Amino acid sequence: MMRKDIFENLGQVHKNIEAACARSGRDPKEVTLIAVSKTKPIEDLQEAYQCGERNFGENKVQEIVQKQPQIPSDARFHMIGHLQRNKVRQVLPLVSMIHSVDSLRLAQEIQQEGERIGRIVDILLEVNVAGEESKFGFAPEEVLEILMKIHNFSHIRVCGLMTIAPFVENSEQNRPVFKKLFQLYVDIKRKNIDNVSMSVLSMGMTGDYEVAVEEGATMIRVGIGIFGVR
Ligand SMILES: *Cc1c(COP(=O)(O)O)cnc(C)c1O
Repeated sequence: MMRKDIFENLGQVHKNIEAACARSGRDPKEVTLIAVSKTKPIEDLQEAYQCGERNFGENKVQEIVQKQPQIPSDARFHMIGHLQRNKVRQVLPLVSMIHSVDSLRLAQEIQQEGERIGRIVDILLEVNVAGEESKFGFAPEEVLEILMKIHNFSHIRVCGLMTIAPFVENSEQNRPVFKKLFQLYVDIKRKNIDNVSMSVLSMGMTGDYEVAVEEGATMIRVGIGIFGVR
């Protein structure tokens, strides 16, 4: 079944990204859209793939295991949800980046598994910028400390930071959250830590991605805005 709505939604999201880039003097090529396909059937991913999308976000290992083999291999799957250490082995070969590294122990597990299979794994550190009890992630003050512990891991490449901003009525309310993560990203980048590239800033979802782009996001994760409500 042709999902015309997915085609149209994608067109709109890309237009909105371009407009946000124009407002903030950025190049749209700096912003990668991750189509968050969690809970959605494989046909929806195939439709988005047909429309040219190559980056998919999922938050459950089981769904990645099911879906990844059914999409052409030039698609990249991004693990964006909380990852349990005992699932690292299963998911690692199927994903191009793990956005949700939220503990030293998880980083250690990824390092160990990366070493075992001979792959250097691209990761982001998840930061709980707003300090919400319900959310995973490092406190902003902890990020440098954790980086100093893991930057010499041989099979991990820290590519940047990720955050899930609070659920808000008005996306402007999240602007300070995005500004704060961007500042942390720039501060760390300036330190030129070995093996830490700080080239990816993953922030912004359906409700607030335009604000996130204005504040420097290089990856935005949009689900509902592409595939409809879950
Ligand atoms: C579900 C999810 C998204 C996408 O949220 P939407 O509101 O559907 O755009 C982005 N990031 C993470 C980590 C998610 O779990």
